[in-house]
Amino acid sequence: MTPLGVSRSSPYIASNVAQALEHFWLIDELQQVASRELSDWTGARAGTIVHCTGAAITLSIAAVMTGTDQQNIANLPDVTALPSKVILPAAHAINYGQSIQQAIRLAGAEPILAGSSHHCSICELEKHLQEPGTSCLLLVSSRLVAGNEIDFKAAVKAAHDAGLPTIIDGAAQDRRLADLLDTGTDLLLLSAQKYLSAPTAGIILGTQQLVDSVRANERGIGRAMKASKEAIFGVLAAIEERQTENLAIWQAEQAEKLARFIGQANEIPQLEAFSIPDMTGLPFSRACLTVTRSKTNVGAAGLVEALKMGTPGIRVMEHALREERIIFELVPLHETEIAVILERISEILVPK
Ligand SMILES: *Cc1c(COP(=O)(O)O)cnc(C)c1O
Repeated sequence: MTPLGVSRSSPYIASNVAQALEHFWLIDELQQVASRELSDWTGARAGTIVHCTGAAITLSIAAVMTGTDQQNIANLPDVTALPSKVILPAAHAINYGQSIQQAIRLAGAEPILAGSSHHCSICELEKHLQEPGTSCLLLVSSRLVAGNEIDFKAAVKAAHDAGLPTIIDGAAQDRRLADLLDTGTDLLLLSAQKYLSAPTAGIILGTQQLVDSVRANERGIGRAMKASKEAIFGVLAAIEERQTENLAIWQAEQAEKLARFIGQANEIPQLEAFSIPDMTGLPFSRACLTVTRSKTNVGAAGLVEALKMGTPGIRVMEHALREERIIFELVPLHETEIAVILERISEILVPK
């Protein structure tokens, strides 16, 4: 969803952002408030806000390597004399619009892939973690990760047994953050502009020492990765809203919206619709549509293209298009918008 502006913010978040823009603020003070609020929300010891999760990956790795040492920070991306190998399970070497390996290399570090693209055992991780010059373990929790799911708790323990810190990139997983923090990871990274619906920002949660080291790197390579005052205010408003939300009610609303969409889609004779759960365990499902080719000349790819070309342009998740499956993310949508989508679909799928 990043090319679509990712999410829409509530009027409450938007008004907080607008107010932030009209004043001067001491950024250090704002970041201290953010750290407290993030800690209250998540139970992590400390937190900070940076430009986005891409920045958070680079800065977390910088922080692990440099600590708060000014000379080390000034030297980056030169890492001579610093442990700089970052162990990453090969299946976690994702591309979210940028290859995560490049986000690692931007800090001067060297990504080392462990295991195969389908499997990485804890044994294989341990072997790499014990290599001299190793700095940390990076794990990714995302639907972009292919292959067998690694046991995060065991992976974090393996790193800690080797005396190394861990970072989890959980960008879109703010609704699973308790699970991810429960692994014992030293740092957890989240994108505030995804399901949290804040302005673009990266949230870094973790130990005070590493959060301080991230902030210290703002006087180094992090200069170009810092959070704006409006991003900080937007995140604070978004987590305030999230904390007042009733998850059970929210889930029921999402389930109801999805069931209605699927019911109505199944009334279109050229379609079959069903729900698929989020593969990472996020607390909602998505709608999957398949086109019945015996009943229309428009295939799945044709439908997706036609939806894009209409007004309003409608974008779907295209990762399963090769299997002729079209996935709809309904979480951010209102009923009236869903009605427009269904109307457009039935217009496009003319009977044979
Ligand atoms: C979206 C995403 C990113 C990048 O996040 P930005 O905040 O857009 O920089 C990184 N990792 C994963 C797993 C993502 O889903």
